[in-house]
Amino acid sequence: MAKVKDPWELALMKQSGRKLAEVSAILREAVRPGVTTLELDEIAAREIVKRQGKSNFKGYKAGGITPFPATICASLNQEVVHGIPNDRPLKEGDIISIDMGLIYAGYHSDTAFTVGVGRIDPALQRLLDETEQSLYLGIAQAKAGQRTGDIGHAIQSHIEPLGYGIVDAFVGHGIGRQMHEHPSVPNVGRPNQGTLLVEGHCLAIEPMITTGSGDTRILDDDWTVETVDGSLAAHFEHTIAVTPRGPEILTVLDDPKVG
Ligand code: MG
Repeated sequence: MAKVKDPWELALMKQSGRKLAEVSAILREAVRPGVTTLELDEIAAREIVKRQGKSNFKGYKAGGITPFPATICASLNQEVVHGIPNDRPLKEGDIISIDMGLIYAGYHSDTAFTVGVGRIDPALQRLLDETEQSLYLGIAQAKAGQRTGDIGHAIQSHIEPLGYGIVDAFVGHGIGRQMHEHPSVPNVGRPNQGTLLVEGHCLAIEPMITTGSGDTRILDDDWTVETVDGSLAAHFEHTIAVTPRGPEILTVLDDPKVG
């Protein structure tokens, strides 16, 4: 069963999300040609600690493989998610996806964005913009009485006509006292299918979209996920709460009007 958060827990989720949004904004500003993803990782680590938070990515273990070694996932170009920061400088024209989370007062938040390094091909900017748009369309469905399939359907029906690929091997998730809670939130789906949403549910919604096929493989480092066909990938994610007023985005500095 998906956990329902009481108002006290929601207030802590909100604080956790707000802190992560602040760190995310700092990182976005720090992306430029010449910076390394390890440098970005150090900034994230420092800014999370400054806010009394703790990284939930660093040391994360999934299925007995190597624990994740960093605070951020930094995934470049054809990499989709879970890239490990390194000392290679970013180049003008690259796109980089940064995914990260924190725990504050026992509550997790999780967010991701993709941004161009310097000036990028307008076709790539479109991939980023449409992926972000699909996230907001998905979020708009996160209302009491709707189901997780409505979220996936909103994302899928925006993306597919554009000819992009949807990565379906990785999905969004419930979030709260754990980073990954029930239910799964796939980026494809059918209306009125899946888990019923009620007030107090918190979800991380996170479409991963490519310029080609959505098929992926995991590299030998056990973590980095890249597209099989070498197509480029974008990833946007917010942690949201299902409230009486509709979906509330927790990982933003100012909640934009959704829906
Ligand atoms: Mg996530």
